[in-house]
Amino acid sequence: MFERVALIGLGLIGSSLSHAMRRERLAGHIAGHARSRSTREKAVEIGLVDSIHDTAAEAVAGADLVFLCVPVGACGSVTAEVANSLKPGAIVTDVGSVKTAVVRDVAPHIPPDVHFVPGHPVAGTEQSGPESGFAELFIDRWCILTPDQTSEPHAVKRLAEFWRACGSNVETMTPEHHDLVLAITSHLPHLIAYNIVATAADVEEVTNSEVIKFSAGGFRDFTRIAASDPTMWRDIFLSNKDAILEMLGRFSEDLSALQRAIRWGDGDALFSLFTRSREIRRSIIAAGQETAAPDFGRRSPKR
Ligand code: NAP
Repeated sequence: MFERVALIGLGLIGSSLSHAMRRERLAGHIAGHARSRSTREKAVEIGLVDSIHDTAAEAVAGADLVFLCVPVGACGSVTAEVANSLKPGAIVTDVGSVKTAVVRDVAPHIPPDVHFVPGHPVAGTEQSGPESGFAELFIDRWCILTPDQTSEPHAVKRLAEFWRACGSNVETMTPEHHDLVLAITSHLPHLIAYNIVATAADVEEVTNSEVIKFSAGGFRDFTRIAASDPTMWRDIFLSNKDAILEMLGRFSEDLSALQRAIRWGDGDALFSLFTRSREIRRSIIAAGQETAAPDFGRRSPKR
């Protein structure tokens, strides 16, 4: 599909893209760059790239498609670094979990003869690094593209075709809308998970060993999310500040209402909220975005 693809950043998303491209034969040549020598060496060792480069500028030279797979806060500086080496007609895209800030930081550095199409594969795990990727990560997941009026339609179409070839469904929306949607579906849940794990660790009457021993009571599922990469999530909270604060405000109001229902013994209020939540879970399963197996399929229902 593309003669030469450059991956800047070879962590979970960069390495998964490499595996997906290899599986679907989407790239004639994959050039790669990561910040540290150890990641670059690992990428060569496990065959993620056909060529590895010490600088991002060298990696993008001659590439038809350039993927920025670095933390959101690094997208602007990396683009500034590669701008003069981009091939005329190339498509530059990113995979950042926040879109308004990435567009603000990246777009000013894009030369007039290069097409920038921002993107975000809504797919991931709590793992990071070059060995964490796998080809199936994007299958049946959404990839959101946030082109604007200046985006070249042909470039948007080619990128959408690329993501579909990786197994994703593609949707387009504005960067602002993306950030609002993701603030509630992804960013706030991570904030809650980070916070509950920190609270549990601070409860002095409950020992750490009890937290681990009885974690199946719900806590364990929060710890998975709270194990996500600290750099990536720091950047997300700093970059999507307004939308996250808006959702956090609403969440806090709803939490206060729950607190009040518990204090006043309002079982009806609790029951109706829990019933609504259960319906949402069922609709996520019906949409194919989650398994219906008990305990996320960790154990067979027969055991
Ligand atoms: P990751 O596993 O931590 O990998 C990040 C990669 O970026 C590493 O290879 C790192 O190099 C490299 N890097 C960091 N700063 C750099 C810089 N200034 N110049 C060059 N390379 C740099 O992270 P990830 O999970 O793949 O996330 C990458 C992007 O995908 C983020 O923007 C994130 O928001 C987005 N995203 C993540 C997920 C998810 O669930 N993880 C899902 C969707 C989108 P070193 O290894 O040498 O440090």
